[in-house]
Amino acid sequence: MKKKIGITFTTTNFLNYLDWFDKTDLGETFELVTLSFEQNNIEDICQCDGFVLTGGVDIHPSRYNGILNYPNQPQQFQEERDAFESTVYWYAKLHQLPVLGICRGMQLVNVLEGGSMVQDLGEKKNQVHRKIEKDKKHLIRIEENSALHRITLAQNGEVNSAHHQCIDANHMPDSLMAVASADDATIEAIEFKNPSNHGFMLCVQWHPERMEEKNTNPLSINIKKAFLNAINNSFNMKMKIINPATAEVIAEVTKDDASSLNDKLKLLKTGQKNWARVPLQERIAVINQYSNLLAENLEALAKTLTAEVGKPIQQSRNEINGSRSRIVWLTNNAEKYLQEEIMQASAGMTELIRYEPLGIVCNISAWNYPYLVGTNVFIPALLAGNAVLYKPSEHATLTGLHIEKLLKQAGVPDNVFQVAVGAADTGEILLSLPLDGYFFTGSYRTGKYIYEKVANKMVPCQCELGGKDPLYITDDIEDIASIAAGTADGAFYNNGQSCCAVERIYVNEKVYNQYVDAFVKEVQSWKLGHPMEDGVYLGAVSRESQIEFLEQQVADAIAKGATLLTGGKRVDRGGYYFEPTVLINVNHDMSVMREESFGPIIGIMKVKDDEEALALMNDTDYGLTASVYSRDRERAEKILSQTDAGTGYWNCCDRVSAAVPWSGRRHSGFGATLSHAGIRAFTQPKAFHLRG
Ligand code: NAD
Repeated sequence: MKKKIGITFTTTNFLNYLDWFDKTDLGETFELVTLSFEQNNIEDICQCDGFVLTGGVDIHPSRYNGILNYPNQPQQFQEERDAFESTVYWYAKLHQLPVLGICRGMQLVNVLEGGSMVQDLGEKKNQVHRKIEKDKKHLIRIEENSALHRITLAQNGEVNSAHHQCIDANHMPDSLMAVASADDATIEAIEFKNPSNHGFMLCVQWHPERMEEKNTNPLSINIKKAFLNAINNSFNMKMKIINPATAEVIAEVTKDDASSLNDKLKLLKTGQKNWARVPLQERIAVINQYSNLLAENLEALAKTLTAEVGKPIQQSRNEINGSRSRIVWLTNNAEKYLQEEIMQASAGMTELIRYEPLGIVCNISAWNYPYLVGTNVFIPALLAGNAVLYKPSEHATLTGLHIEKLLKQAGVPDNVFQVAVGAADTGEILLSLPLDGYFFTGSYRTGKYIYEKVANKMVPCQCELGGKDPLYITDDIEDIASIAAGTADGAFYNNGQSCCAVERIYVNEKVYNQYVDAFVKEVQSWKLGHPMEDGVYLGAVSRESQIEFLEQQVADAIAKGATLLTGGKRVDRGGYYFEPTVLINVNHDMSVMREESFGPIIGIMKVKDDEEALALMNDTDYGLTASVYSRDRERAEKILSQTDAGTGYWNCCDRVSAAVPWSGRRHSGFGATLSHAGIRAFTQPKAFHLRG
């Protein structure tokens, strides 16, 4: 993939950059990306390898303690642009990526590093620097022993200016030095005093991109070349995002490393306590606004989700809407479960509980339902006053970045929510950081590892892990066809990649044949295809490695005597597709009945009575959900109460509600999200004994 140069965009400036970085510069190596405060495409920053902070309207004086009314101030400031571009700069600095600041871009870097501005140069100097019709030309002098000098090989030169403000030389930030100035002492260029531990950074007050002699003047052409070289040479750990529907790389994003994660943690430490002091009603309003933004951006978000994980577009929409429903319950009930509780009050003594936040919690998440499983954790965590370091799965990174963007747009401060980008190695770094709680959603294997690894920190750790969820069809059911269709959906929705997908089915022998026939008929009626196509029920399986595992489960089952009724193999259509697969004559020696498949495959087993069904349902290391279909509620509840699982379903399956706890047992994890338990999970109760 080409290296991406992020250019902060305004309609008036971008054409100049298209002209400056011409085809010969870009070739097959670079491409330009617009980073637009108007579109707020903050999620694209992660894909860029270098940044140009461009010119434009004065920075709002509140950013440098300036006064509001001054000569030549613009009719309108662009505070949103200031905020957007400060995110760009902060990101580039965090990852040591090259930055070129031009005019306003230079002033912004100065201000963000802690410097101040001369708010108006005054009539005389403005005559030299301010653009009226054409850029003004004037001479500058360049400091020896500066990077600018090494780059331009010039001690002086002629530049074009268009500004009426400049950097305040008397209040320069400690980190920066002025490396060029005009005859009137106006600062014309800045760079880091100590460039070690920083990426390339050069800022100039003039406009190299629109100089008349931009192809010959070293103050334009050499700067451009040095910037492009810096991008080419910068060590930028990138991670590929693959579309499972086509196996094509759709994006490359910069991964976090130990240094950037440490910085993110430091940032969160500056914000958490203030966030906890924000009245709960305001935090609730922010989260509700996030939910509104999910609705407003539904189509775009759904497309990104489908492109990353391969689920049919309608299922992506359903997931986002589903997360909004959970937010409704969580925000409606936050006050009830987070407010102070007086437990006992008698003459002179009051005993009460306050629910204090944990602090900065780490959320390491899975890819199969990033909106849903994320919502289970970061929403109640934020409501309870925590800051969150959120690591989306490497297979749902773009979605994670969208979530971050919308939370921030809704009003969650930058120093309260941060995303950690990367895979297992990034997760490992998180485990070594001094965080105040770990909330993990993912596989048993990783969950066990994380639990062991963070044990010595003595902080809360919750694990929502996989399952091998059983479903039992008793002999008293009616309307077998519709039950077969509903339970097939429970097994194959999202290609079976749900933690609570039905993973094994036991059917009473009296209804077995009818049920299996109807089940297979239903499965064979589904359309498999590209997840963006209308009417597709089975999209791509999210990870290539999963296909191999499913093939092994089929081969193992057949070798041990199972019968394949439909499916059983990968589909050769580009991307990662697997036929929906139904196996019968299965038993518990087979992997398909013991190990989480997490794919479009199911084993159906005949049983003679409830007792045999119950024994088989409990013959597992997992314990997430169990389901019974019967006309008789009492009979179903009797069976369900004896299953060793966190959730029991009667005449339904594969569903989650925010009103009741979502919790596994044994290899399916421990602790709970959702419900009152899942709100309080992000708090530490403090008891108060108040005499008087
Ligand atoms: P996974 O365990 O492979 O990865 C989950 C997360 O852990 C990812 O973000 C990954 O980068 C990170 N990770 C991996 N190794 C790590 C390490 N050594 N240190 C720190 N972090 C590490 O799981 P997955 O494939 O993303 O998700 C599928 C699994 O999740 C299935 O087993 C599914 O059942 C389970 N799941 C459970 C629930 C639930 O609520 N119980 C919900 C969704 C998914």
